[in-house]
Amino acid sequence: MGNGTCTSRQGLENMLSRAQGSHDLTRGEIVNLLALTDSCEVEALYVAADRVRREHVGDDIFLRGIIEFSSHCRNNCLYCGLRRDNTGLERYRIPDDEIVDLARSMEREGCTTVVLQSGEDPFYTRDRMCAIISRIKGETSLAVTLSLGERTFEDYRAFRLSGADRYLLRHESASRPLYASLCPGRTLDDRIRCLEWLRELGYETGSGFMVGLPGQTVEDLADDVILIRELGADMVGIGPFIPHAQTPLGAHPAGDVNLVLKTVAVVRMVTRDANIPATTALGVLDKQSRKRAFHAGANVYMPVFTPQSYAKDYEIYPGKGLVSSDARKSLDAYREFFSSMGRPVGRGKGGRPGFQEKGTVCEKKTVG
Ligand code: SAH
Ligand code: SF4
Repeated sequence: MGNGTCTSRQGLENMLSRAQGSHDLTRGEIVNLLALTDSCEVEALYVAADRVRREHVGDDIFLRGIIEFSSHCRNNCLYCGLRRDNTGLERYRIPDDEIVDLARSMEREGCTTVVLQSGEDPFYTRDRMCAIISRIKGETSLAVTLSLGERTFEDYRAFRLSGADRYLLRHESASRPLYASLCPGRTLDDRIRCLEWLRELGYETGSGFMVGLPGQTVEDLADDVILIRELGADMVGIGPFIPHAQTPLGAHPAGDVNLVLKTVAVVRMVTRDANIPATTALGVLDKQSRKRAFHAGANVYMPVFTPQSYAKDYEIYPGKGLVSSDARKSLDAYREFFSSMGRPVGRGKGGRPGFQEKGTVCEKKTVG
């Protein structure tokens, strides 16, 4: 526990050690963990989460190179700088050939996964997206993760048949009223249906949420954690809300990084072997806290490969473009940085245990 003056907190230690075994944390226990303020107790939570991480996914940190290929978005999420009503933003689309070239250069640098992310941009029709995915799968050996928002079942199926392996779609907030107030014209139920479709289609499925949304309580966050467990999410992205001046939430304070770290730790305890990134948003608020996330349960890092001329306009929240350029180190620099933390960079594709490569696509292992 790091601090010699810590007294034994038997109740907490007992709960944590049961949670490291087969005990599923109750909602009440999750609320109590998220509400911890005593630094010794918080440290005990991180240590427990770190142990669960080591036991279930090992020490490797996996790198997922991200290409933010379009900043156009038809949605109007109140928190996001890419919302359609923000007219003070240069919008871009990276030409298809350039996307494929970026994926190839990523592979040359030693990345094993490409994440293709965008606003919800109807310009990328089913056929257009399938062509991009097929080219990347044909010309590289990369795992392909998509993060394009809500699409039809048929779209998701076609992308999967074209070779997409994984899909990231955060549920954003498990509180129905909060979700409805933040995402005009959309519902949490639709979001959850999309996540169920993705699972059904055999994607490794990622969800996640923001911490520090206006009006969000610790109980709401406990519901986020429980929804993650119910969804059986294979990947979980958790980041602080960061206010963007050109959005209706511009005056709202940013999320608390310590609460984000506690949430990461609790999600590690609950999911055990999910892939959990130390998110870019955490690094924007405080570089150290992203490093701390790797000691609180995180095992994935997502370096940005979007060329700087575009990335500066992918302003989901302020500072994102800057981190992108800062993150544009060579992968060797990352290897060095992580190995100084005693954590090697993973060599394979780093899918969730239970998924395996079949041909060029990752699939869930069947039992028996
Ligand atoms: N359009 C896609 C993917 C891009 S947005 C989608 O919405 O799924 C990626 C993530 O950025 C969102 O899921 C959201 O959780 C996060 N995000 C948006 N605005 C943010 C803000 N102001 N602060 C922190 N994270 C934000
Ligand atoms: Fe669009 Fe995603 Fe931003 Fe919502 S969070 S406005 S869907 S880019």
